[in-house]
Amino acid sequence: MHLPEFPYAEPYKIKTVEKIRRSTLEEREKWIKEAKYNLFKLKSHQVFIDLLTDSGTGAMSDEQWAEIMRGDEAYAGSRSYELLKETVERITGYPFLIPTHQGRGAENVLFSALVKEGDIIPGNMHFDTTKAHIELRKATALDCTIDEAYDTEHYHPFKGNIDVNKLEDAFKKYGKKKIPFVILTVTCNTAGGQPVSMQNIGEVSAVCKKYGIPLYFDAARFAENAYFIKKRERAYKDKTIKEIVKEMFAYGDGMLMSAKKDGLVNMGGFIALRDEATYRKAIVYNILYEGFVTYGGMSGRDMGALAVGLDEATEFDYLESRVEQVHYLGLRLMELDVPVQQPIGGHAIYLDANRFVPTIPREQFRAQALAVELYRVGGIRGVEIGTIMADRDPVTRENRYPKLELVRLAIPRRVYTNNHMNFVAEVLKYIYSTRHEAKTGYRIVYEPPILRHFTVELEKI
Ligand SMILES: *Cc1c(COP(=O)(O)O)cnc(C)c1O
Repeated sequence: MHLPEFPYAEPYKIKTVEKIRRSTLEEREKWIKEAKYNLFKLKSHQVFIDLLTDSGTGAMSDEQWAEIMRGDEAYAGSRSYELLKETVERITGYPFLIPTHQGRGAENVLFSALVKEGDIIPGNMHFDTTKAHIELRKATALDCTIDEAYDTEHYHPFKGNIDVNKLEDAFKKYGKKKIPFVILTVTCNTAGGQPVSMQNIGEVSAVCKKYGIPLYFDAARFAENAYFIKKRERAYKDKTIKEIVKEMFAYGDGMLMSAKKDGLVNMGGFIALRDEATYRKAIVYNILYEGFVTYGGMSGRDMGALAVGLDEATEFDYLESRVEQVHYLGLRLMELDVPVQQPIGGHAIYLDANRFVPTIPREQFRAQALAVELYRVGGIRGVEIGTIMADRDPVTRENRYPKLELVRLAIPRRVYTNNHMNFVAEVLKYIYSTRHEAKTGYRIVYEPPILRHFTVELEKI
């Protein structure tokens, strides 16, 4: 019997709900002023729809909550650690596991073992904490992303790809002595959650092998990357997500993971490695900074929930509901002519502030101005990924003006419905219709020496 194609419906139902409250325009204007126009300083009850980040904001499943109850809190060699180690090895193929409290903990531990002053770390638009951990060690993060990634109107199915020629030029120029490893971020967060193709991963791996340089994945969204490979790379159409993931990681020497993303947990991270010598070097720093080797800053129950989360995140049905919800919002915005980065990435929508509010000077942080307006009008919290986040040059201390001025609307996993997405779209439609009135932005009144976007304080010009 042949059935018609019925509409899409999520492969889960809701067991617990949490109340959220809509505020008034007057309340929000007062709150955002008190927060010094920094959305990180708002209290969560002041936010109606929170799209600040998809990091650690997802909803866990009943199976994960069940594993929380089974957590083994032994200091050394807990069952929960064994469960996580077996799961990571089964999914990634990497046998050596180092749990950490979150992704940047993993960066700190691995980079303490491998990065020294003057080193060059090539990659595809390094994530902000990754870059900060490199620069803190007086090394340089070298961006080798393909040029197409910088054109937000240009369609390319794999905008996270590395330009292999740029990479090989760097290898020739600096050599193995100055390049301890390459870091490939999947999906590429800074480029807009854009995936890296299996073909590119293979090519990058081949040049790395040719020059004897290890390849590590910054794998926060590896499952979403695998979903895009399945959808966009013909040879992978009939493969399971788990098969694709296994093949991706087979090209590398290890991974850093912020489990707050595709680990489907609220806190956690890890390093997974193929090579025992690197593992031995890194665990020294894990014990120093994170915790004993079999927990590294995570409780047993959290390692258990992460093990279950990694399995759930690498199921097609889950990934389809996740990535297609992000696309649903993207398509609604495109219908309304709101300028969004193309193509839509895996975890977030990126509003293109250069096209949205070109009337606000860049020195006045136009993307931040747009993010504040979205909160003021709709109680929706996004985040600036533009001049404020790009921070100052560590040597000259001048503002760095990135090619892209974006506002990211990150969608938490399994949290909001498509009605929430419709609300966001309508608010943006209204702001877009009034955009010509926006002429001035903000100036900085306080900023810390690094990672300024978290604590910067602003005033209206
Ligand atoms: C989130 C993230 C990190 C840092 O992880 P935290 O868990 O936030 O410390 C590193 N790299 C990428 C690509 C990320 O998305």
